[in-house]
This record gives sequence, C-alpha cells and structure tokens, in this order.
Amino acid sequence: MSDCIFCKIANGEIPTTVVYEDDLVMAFEDANPQMPVHTLIVPKAHYANMNDDMPDELMGHLFNTVKKVAEIKGVAESGYRVIVNTGEDAQQVVKHLHIHVLGGAKMNEGSP
Ligand code: 5GP
Ligand code: ZN
Repeated sequence: MSDCIFCKIANGEIPTTVVYEDDLVMAFEDANPQMPVHTLIVPKAHYANMNDDMPDELMGHLFNTVKKVAEIKGVAESGYRVIVNTGEDAQQVVKHLHIHVLGGAKMNEGSP
C-alpha cells in the first residue's frame, strides 16, 4: 500500500527505531509511547487488521515475535500487555495490522 505509513516504515522508506527485524516482521518504537515500553510489531506485508486474510504461519510468526520483543525490551519477567486494536469501535488509527507491546511500569485503570 503506497500511502500506508507502516508499510513505509517496514520497507525502510521512513526511518524509525528498530527493536527487532527479520524477513517477515519488524518491531519498532511507538512514536507516542503510552508506557515506558511501547513497541509496535508489524508484518512487513500489508494486512489491514486482524480480520484480514493472513496465512496462519505468518500470524504465528508475528505473535511469536512478541516474546522476543519482551526479552529485548527487558519486560519478559516483569510483565507486559499486548493489544491489537481492530476496526472502528477499537479506534484503530493506522490501518496496517500492528501489535502493541506495553510495559515497564505497573498498570492501573488509566493504563492503555
Ligand atoms: P492504533 O490506535 O492504530 O492501534 O495505534 C497506532 C499507533 O501507532 C499509535 O500508538 C501511534 O502513536 C503510533 N504511530 C502512528 N504513526 C506513527 C509513526 O509514524 N511512527 C511510529 N513509530 N508510530 C506511529
Ligand atoms: Zn501497510
């Protein structure tokens, strides 16, 4: 998708702070972090959200990246929250599937 911001990040067109990358996925720091740790994980190929028809293998790989990111960011032991906003009611803003990995502090009612 030529006008998709996360496609541009994933293909290197827009510079970002990369946390983890392989052939299929990229993890990078959220531009507006809601917690001390706020990393996004995306498939490099464009899928709009969880409803999109993604191969099981890629979906598995994408979600397996969560624990790698948690290790890299140092929150595997302390704990973290995983959020995937999907569609309008969830207020998904960027229409390229992404996993939020949030942590680094105790969460409360006001946490994302
Ligand atoms: P959503 O509400 O779609 O799940 O969340 C989109 C997330 O992407 C937000 O947390 C927002 O801060 C982040 N974001 C939006 N644009 C950019 C960008 O250009 N670069 C980065 N690194 N994060 C972005
Ligand atoms: Zn995209």
